[in-house]
Amino acid sequence: MRWSWKIATVAGIPVRIHATFVLLLIWIFGSHLAGGQSVTQALKGVGLILSIFGCVVLHEFGHALTAKRFGVVTRDITLLPIGGVARLERIPEKPSQEIAIALAGPAVNFVIASVLVAVLSVQPTLDWNNPASLEQSFPARLLLINLFLAIFNLIPAFPMDGGRVLRALLATRLPYVRATQVAANVGQGIALLFGLVGLFGNPILLFIALFVFIGAGQEAAAVQMRSVFDGIAVSRAMVRDFRTLDSREPLSRAVELLLAGHQQDFPIVSGSGGDPVGVLARSDLLTALASGKTEVTVGEAARNCGVAHPADMLEDVFRRMQESGCSAVPVVEPGRGIVGMVTLENVGEFAMVQAALGRSRPRP
Ligand code: ZN
Repeated sequence: MRWSWKIATVAGIPVRIHATFVLLLIWIFGSHLAGGQSVTQALKGVGLILSIFGCVVLHEFGHALTAKRFGVVTRDITLLPIGGVARLERIPEKPSQEIAIALAGPAVNFVIASVLVAVLSVQPTLDWNNPASLEQSFPARLLLINLFLAIFNLIPAFPMDGGRVLRALLATRLPYVRATQVAANVGQGIALLFGLVGLFGNPILLFIALFVFIGAGQEAAAVQMRSVFDGIAVSRAMVRDFRTLDSREPLSRAVELLLAGHQQDFPIVSGSGGDPVGVLARSDLLTALASGKTEVTVGEAARNCGVAHPADMLEDVFRRMQESGCSAVPVVEPGRGIVGMVTLENVGEFAMVQAALGRSRPRP
């Protein structure tokens, strides 16, 4: 995610903080001071927000560590003003695993809440029936917030946790794509309700509504895209007519070919055997030129994107490309060298053609 910094790495998972989150802290601090409160009170306000987000991070680690048990890697956890986001590299297709991962987050908040109840039970000064007394107590406020976090996340508005549970439950009876669409529609419906309530005085709810609405649409589209590739081999969707460049050739050669033809990404080969050593994408070529590196060879400007095999599944290769940020991957056949190339562009075209042909097989 852009505009975010890594603040720690826990259990191999980078924890990042988004710039807008820092703005939130400054705003909290400033609004306490502007309200005529002391610096100590302002710092207490910031401390409460930091504690809340500590709980949010633990919630996200609940998801991430459960996902890890099912062999799903978490790319990173990012803190935004509206909460945390754990980016899983993939979503497990077994509904029971998705349910476990989704429930693990709210479960963490319930655990924190019960620990706080234990802490509060030994505080004789606290009066549970007196809202003012609760408002004064830091652990009591944190307890209520954790209960709120757990219950709020369980609302079945996809892509929130409760929505993921709903999708997984639907997926036990419906094809996966259909289950996602239904869950996304329910999520967007709830988001509209949130938005309506948010309009009448709660701007944070409005933000969350927007987040849920966009998130639901995006996830439904991604699942739709995956279903188009389901069971299709790389050999069916690869480009067969393309040029390669020798790693020792100058960048100007790549510019010539880029301007002359329709090819944007070039597989780079090396040695007499023509072994693939990387891919020079148009964006990397332009970056190299813009930074004045006109003297370098195409081999030096290329990036390593791995290779694919004709029998590989298109879905897997596409996922690898998205994860590595590569716009193209050479397809290699043992003994024959590079026989094709998969690019984001031609994968997109392939998906459009498939969609136009109305091929929509349900997921097994
Ligand atoms: Zn969650």
